This record gives sequence, C-alpha cells and structure tokens, in this order.
Amino acid sequence: MTAARITLLGSQHDALANHLGSHPDCHEKAAVVLFRRLHIPVEGLPDSDRYIAQEVILFEDAWVTGSSSAHIAFPLTPLRELFRRCEEEGLAFGFVHNHPGGPAAFSAIDEQNERTLLTALSNRNGLDVTFVAMLWTEGQWLARTRTACFPKMAIPVRHILVLGDRITLYGYKESTDEHTEVQARQSAAFGKPFVDMLQSLRVGVPGNGGTGSPFATLGARAGIGELVLIDKDPLAASNLNRVRGLMRSDVGEIKSYALKTFIEGIGLSVKVAAIASDIDIDQAAVDALASCDVIVGCTDDFAGRELMNAALYAYAQPLIDIGLGGKVDNGPDGHPYLRYHFGRISTILPESGQCLFCQGVIKDVWIQAQLARRENPDITSDELKERYLEDGGTDAPGVGPFTSAAADFALATLFDLIKPFRRFPPELRRDMLFVDFVKMEINSHKTAGNYDCPYCRAHEFLLLKESCRLNRPFLGKRDEFY
Ligand SMILES: [Zn+2]
Ligand SMILES: [Zn+2]
Repeated sequence: MTAARITLLGSQHDALANHLGSHPDCHEKAAVVLFRRLHIPVEGLPDSDRYIAQEVILFEDAWVTGSSSAHIAFPLTPLRELFRRCEEEGLAFGFVHNHPGGPAAFSAIDEQNERTLLTALSNRNGLDVTFVAMLWTEGQWLARTRTACFPKMAIPVRHILVLGDRITLYGYKESTDEHTEVQARQSAAFGKPFVDMLQSLRVGVPGNGGTGSPFATLGARAGIGELVLIDKDPLAASNLNRVRGLMRSDVGEIKSYALKTFIEGIGLSVKVAAIASDIDIDQAAVDALASCDVIVGCTDDFAGRELMNAALYAYAQPLIDIGLGGKVDNGPDGHPYLRYHFGRISTILPESGQCLFCQGVIKDVWIQAQLARRENPDITSDELKERYLEDGGTDAPGVGPFTSAAADFALATLFDLIKPFRRFPPELRRDMLFVDFVKMEINSHKTAGNYDCPYCRAHEFLLLKESCRLNRPFLGKRDEFY
C-alpha cells in the first residue's frame, strides 16, 4: 500500500476546522469523514489512491463520554451506523480529531484508538476495508491510512488537498536536493513550500498538441510531480509550427507517447503516464483522469470538455481549461489578417467559479454537432441545421506564439491557485480570462444570470454517486474501485 492522497472540499474543511476548534475549554473534538476511495493504478506512476471526502459527520456532544485538551473518549455505538453505511455505500471510514494543545503529530494514544476503530470496522465489514485517520493540529492537516490486513502499519498520506476558491495543500513531503537545485529560481519567487506542493501534484493533461505540449513541457520543468498525458492523435507535420518537444521524426507517432519520451529525456524528477485515447469515450482514459489532483484541459473538442466539466465536480478536481479563438478576415491586399485572436483560460473549482456551460465555452448543440461529425465526417452545415445543430467555436488557426502563450498563462494560473500572486482588477473574473493577442487586452465576460445550472449551481454532479462512470452508461461500471 502506497501513500494516498486526500481531497476535501473547502466547505468540508471549514466545517471540520470550525467544529474541532469549537470547544470552550480547548478540549479535543472529533468527527467522521466518509470517503470515496478511487483505487486506480496508472502505468508509469506510483500507486496512490485518492480519497475524496463525501460526507462530514461531526461528533455530537452526546457521543463524547469524556475529553480534555489531550484526549477524547467515546463509545463505538454511535459509529456502528456509519460502519454500516461504509459497507452499503462502498465508502471508506475516516476518523478525525484535533490536538488543541499539541503535539503536532499523531500520538501513542492515537495509534491505539485507530487500531480499536479499525478492528471494530473490519469485524463488521471484512478484511478489505481501509481506514483513514486525520489530525488537525496547529492549523495543519496530517493524515494516514491503514488496511485491516496490516492494522499496525500506518502509512502517511502524500498530501491533503483542500479545494476552496484556491488549492491548499497540507502534509506534503519536502522535495529532494536535486529537485531543489532545479527549482532554485522558482523558490526565490514563490518559496520552497510552493515548489514542494507542485511536486506533490498529479496533473492530467488531455490534449497534447498546440497548448498541451507547451503546458506539459513547461509544467514538467516547473516541477509538477506527475503528469498524465492523454491524446490518441498522431503528430502531423502541420503541428510542428507550434508543438513543444515533438520533432519531425515524431510525425505519425501518437502525440502523448512522443511527448512522454521527450519529457522523460529532459532529466527531471517528473513521472509521466501517456494514454492514447479520448477521455469522452474510453474507460481507461476517464479512470486515469479521475486519478489526478488537477486537470488542465488542452483539447479543442467539445465532448472532451463536457466530460471534464462533469469530472471536476464528480471527482473534486480543479479544472483549468485552455481554448483559442479568433477571427481571420481577408484584407484589401487579398491576404488574411487577424481581426482578433485570443487565448481563453477558464479556472473552475468544485465550489468556485462558473462551469464551462455557463461560461459559454461549450453548448449542447456544439457537442451534438461534433458527435454527428464523428459519425459522419461528410455531414454538411445544412444537414446539421436540419437537426438543429451547429458547429461551435470560432476560427482559430494554430499559431505557435498564441497557443504557447495561452498554455504559459494556464501554468501561471496553476501557480496562482497554489500560491495566489495575481492582483485582479475588479473587471476581471478569476474563473475566466481572455488574453487577446491582437487587441492587446485581457478581459472577462460578464457573469451570466442566475440560471439554475445542474453543474455549478444545483451541484447535481458534485461528489456524484456513480452507478457507472459519471453516470454515463457507455463509459461502463466502476465497481473495481471499491
Ligand atoms: Zn490524538
Ligand atoms: Zn454552470
């Protein structure tokens, strides 16, 4: 069993931190978090389960039989109902408490308590259960996991990720000297913890062309710890004007594979997985995507964006989505000229920002038109119109400095999520930026009205209970996850 990763929504973190710190005499308090455990091995990356907090249950006062600043005592009886739910709903049990007076580490008593809880849990639910312990101390989260098979072996998690309107990481490891040397300049700008946090993250990059390849290559250099590259298309000669790290000799090769080879050849500590498929149709690609902490969408297709838009809520993942658009006209000299040409960077967290539908980045008619074109590449615009569909997007020929600049802007956006450094003027939205390379402007659309969006307002997809992947039958069931 290897180091797991924990994800909490900002609202869950706030509820826990408020509860744990609420005793009038600074006694210990406790809570339970029920986790969904995503156990998804990804070839090329270290095994690391994701525990996504599904539900926070605060201990009621009546459950506590005694407490002080150094202990909390409770009977198991009120927890049995939660053990039952774990079994019935395929959830992992997490015990949470705090150390108001220190120590800033798990104690010998914690060790005993965790084993007692795990024994009770496995007596009821069997030997394949896993158990999470979280400790809130001195404004930091610590966490570790155990299995019923090896109850004495507590494995510290890789990190605890809290997703509010930014990304906050706790419990991450210090990076190695080698990594520290490469990242010396970045440490000088953002501090050593920033560098360590970036190294702890697994970042998924669907689309490995004009925006995906510059993002992934610079992201690797910037110290992202793990990259999941997803693209099934072969490199075309006409891509060579803008991709990074891919060569003439790679033409005809799968972009994700060639990019992985290039990034591994740089000689950094990054670990790279490459998957040759599409996230909107392939189970393995969806699963690899779900295993990531953060997604940076570099695809130009609407169906892929729709899937990421659902996944960001279901799998609690920040999504930074890159797009390019513009308008090319013919000038009086008969040559084309750029009327405008922009890079769009959308930044959406499960509890912050508008989703891609509400931002107007994707529309149902565009998605359906794209799917119709996939089935029949010769379908005409008129035939689409007859089916009330239309091709989406604007004219954006792939121009290297623009695709690269948008990708660089997205990486800086990831930096800003981890360590906020940008000072936004009031007219700009954090979740949606357009950088216009012709008009030399950065702007945002006005926030759309109060439409009851199932994604970002009604939150129907938030921590989705999946009957099959993202509740899309064609993506198959996911029972192997439990
Ligand atoms: Zn303790
Ligand atoms: Zn929305």
